[in-house]
Amino acid sequence: MSERYSHYLGGGWETPGETANFLPNRNPARLSEVLGEFQNGTSEDATKAIEAAHKALAGWAALPAPSRGEFLRKAADLLAARVDHVAKDLMLEEGKSLPEAKGETMRGVAILRYYAAQTLLPDGEVIPSATAGTLFFTRRIPVGVCALITPWNFPIAIPLWKAAPALAFGNTVVMKPSEHSPLTAHHLAEVFHEAGLPAGVFNVLYGEGARVGETLTTHPAVNALSFTGSAKTGKWLGSQCSANGKKYQLEMGGKNAVIVLPDADLEQAVNLTVQGAFKSAGQKCTATSRAIIHEDVYQSFVNHLVEKVHTLKVGAGDEADAYLGPVISEAARDNILKAIREAAEAGSTLLCGGKPLEGAKYDLGAYVPPTVFWDVDPDAKIAKEEVFGPVLCLFRAKSEEEALEILNSSEYGLSASIFTKSLNSALRFAEKAQVGMVRVNGETAGVEPQAPFGGMKGSSSYSREQGMAARDFYTQIKTIAIEAAAE
Ligand code: ADP
Repeated sequence: MSERYSHYLGGGWETPGETANFLPNRNPARLSEVLGEFQNGTSEDATKAIEAAHKALAGWAALPAPSRGEFLRKAADLLAARVDHVAKDLMLEEGKSLPEAKGETMRGVAILRYYAAQTLLPDGEVIPSATAGTLFFTRRIPVGVCALITPWNFPIAIPLWKAAPALAFGNTVVMKPSEHSPLTAHHLAEVFHEAGLPAGVFNVLYGEGARVGETLTTHPAVNALSFTGSAKTGKWLGSQCSANGKKYQLEMGGKNAVIVLPDADLEQAVNLTVQGAFKSAGQKCTATSRAIIHEDVYQSFVNHLVEKVHTLKVGAGDEADAYLGPVISEAARDNILKAIREAAEAGSTLLCGGKPLEGAKYDLGAYVPPTVFWDVDPDAKIAKEEVFGPVLCLFRAKSEEEALEILNSSEYGLSASIFTKSLNSALRFAEKAQVGMVRVNGETAGVEPQAPFGGMKGSSSYSREQGMAARDFYTQIKTIAIEAAAE
């Protein structure tokens, strides 16, 4: 039997009760391979985690901020020291390639260091008062107990870009990682444990979100929720939070696009479109799922793209030359293939991929080939709905204006890029693209920890993560006036 893992609550690993239920964590490249069995949290487990975080809050919040930063720095060093081990487990449970998994783990280290450094920054402002002699100032104080619900696609980076600022600014955390990536979450629990974080400051609750969502959003001791995942779950969690008076931020879907203008460097545009669409099997919220190409270069872009896509090798994350790995699960594979089938039946034309991959290696895992539809109608379902897999739609635009119209017709607004050498087109794009993350001659995917991250429209809840923006979510402001006593 594979190893069993229980929740990390109140500074230690739970001894599960007799009725505890465990979920297998499968390697999507070889579905019969179980990497461990993880406790499937209940409402009672969630309550225990929240109570542990609540108990730890006053002590953690009272620590000088630079001392909290020291814990994060230690955690960063511990994670850096085990990067190979963590990256290998990430690759095995999530399916991305080993170099991508290593890159993500090192990004986790950078995030911890960045927020450790933020504990040394000023945490308030002095304000002139209308009353003479009054010391009038603000202080940023913690929000309290933060529930963090995270997805599987970046199982190190996303939990850390939520947990590191939460902890740095004096909050305590109940983290509910995705049921598809609990092993990486276990590594995070170990790293914080070994860094000596006081009991209850960071708790990890495994299992299916639907079993604990109600408790995490209604328990009176929870003050805030940060969520990344599907739009459907996010909208429900947001309504729960607002009904129950919790602060919340949501990062949800995307239908990210590149625009290719006639003056673009086509090789660069094709390479970065392919990278954005197919690396990590398209399972990034910032992945490129639409390419809107000016009709003057449409055919040559398509020719280059097809040539490139035919060279892409699909294989497990540890196959040295695999460009994209499996998708996260059998259910995800079936849903993606169904969306492709339905799009073709509804009249969209397949240019590459689209059929289940055949062969012994592919029978073992949850694989989807890189798939491209061309001349897609901007009103088609496949043009609008997020597929979250290696599926790219090509659109033909008569002008830059029409390309922008197609771009902005999406209900989502996370990330977009334009390929052009024209400064004026780039400036117009930066001004008019209704997205939170704008690129010029770049890939739609990719973030840096020191820059705010988030989307417009249906992608986000008007909140931003990372950079200095994280401080706005994980702190609240107290305004203090100190007046002289009468002498
Ligand atoms: P995906 O389909 O990409 O896994 P989800 O939105 O279902 O996206 O999952 C993202 C995270 O939200 C996961 O940690 C999952 O367990 C959690 N989750 C899913 N449904 C709920 C729910 N009803 N309440 C709370 N968390 C949930």
